[in-house]
Amino acid sequence: MVSAVATPPPVLLSPPHLGGAEIGTIEASFAEGWLAPAGPVPAAFEHAVSIATGFRHVLATCSGTAALHLAYRCLDLQPGDHVWCPGFTFAATISPAVQMGAVPRFLDVDEACWTLDPAALVQELRAAARTGRLPRVVVAVDTYGQCADLPALAAACDPHGVALLSDSAAGMGATRHGRHAGHGARMAAFSFNGNKIVTTGGGGALASDDPLPIARARHLARHAREATAHYQHDTTGYSYGLPSPLAAVGLAQLPLLAARVAARRAIATRYALGLADVPGVRLMPESPNGRSNRWLTAIRVDAARFGMDREGLRLVLEAAGIEARPVWKPLNLQPAFRSVAHAPLPVAERLFAEGLCLPSGSAMAPEVQARVIAVIHDAHAAARRD
Ligand SMILES: *Cc1c(COP(=O)(O)O)cnc(C)c1O
Repeated sequence: MVSAVATPPPVLLSPPHLGGAEIGTIEASFAEGWLAPAGPVPAAFEHAVSIATGFRHVLATCSGTAALHLAYRCLDLQPGDHVWCPGFTFAATISPAVQMGAVPRFLDVDEACWTLDPAALVQELRAAARTGRLPRVVVAVDTYGQCADLPALAAACDPHGVALLSDSAAGMGATRHGRHAGHGARMAAFSFNGNKIVTTGGGGALASDDPLPIARARHLARHAREATAHYQHDTTGYSYGLPSPLAAVGLAQLPLLAARVAARRAIATRYALGLADVPGVRLMPESPNGRSNRWLTAIRVDAARFGMDREGLRLVLEAAGIEARPVWKPLNLQPAFRSVAHAPLPVAERLFAEGLCLPSGSAMAPEVQARVIAVIHDAHAAARRD
């Protein structure tokens, strides 16, 4: 050992939080001989997701992105079709559609909730209807665990016959208007990636109250293989199932969902209280008619009032062994989507300039979080002295 001073372990943004029962459910799956993405273990996991989300039909997938890809296939997205989504999101919301040859367009989010702005969508759809360039699909996104306003978005889409899809990858356990994330869209995609609120390591789910798209997605996820002894395929499919050991992890994780949401909400509350007296720092607002799962606590840093910009603060945190990450860089600013059309995105761009996600893992101890809060206080005090 060379180090004389003990450095505290790094504080990560959102590491997986195991509950302890995972090894047992994996062993049970192994003992029954189930390893493949088939059989009773993924089926049991699908049932558990159905109970947790209130969706009648669920397909477990190997990732949230795979669930989104299957959703686009089930909506029969064709090359040249237009797909709209918020510019303020993770690239995977739209990547599968782009790979299918669709034409994306990015819309702005609402400053009050950081989710797709229903009023802007109404205007955009009216304008598109006049020019005959309506999108085939509008995708809403649950921002950092805050549900999009799906009833309002569906009311905008329905008169034009436009399908609404929900990227609820980060929405497990969150509600809006009293309903679980994803309800109000034709289909919802969830993620159980290692950084999400409950996890299978890597995994996802596609959910709907309509049995038809989920049956179709199930077929496509298994190579579009028909029920014949030889291999026969009615179309090209994917290998998108969730392997049994990962589904087993999910069976141990899902019962913890309510506790994980409570822990993340408590973390957001501690940040709100701990940072209340820091000028120029405010938390992502929670929609008045929703209950966010607070997957990630995001703050906005007003550089003039705080004394440094969000990147300055991020570097101070990094130097203290604390992982913070800028909020999503808007899709219109991404090299991958350089040539994509977009509405003006002033809110998304301002959020990127000012927004920072703070460590939010549900296993983070209050003392550890107190250190994060103290570093932010110190950064402000030091910036004011300079
Ligand atoms: C995590 C996430 C995804 C992707 O999910 P994976 O399971 O990692 O494929 C898509 N969209 C959003 C908004 C996410 O947060």
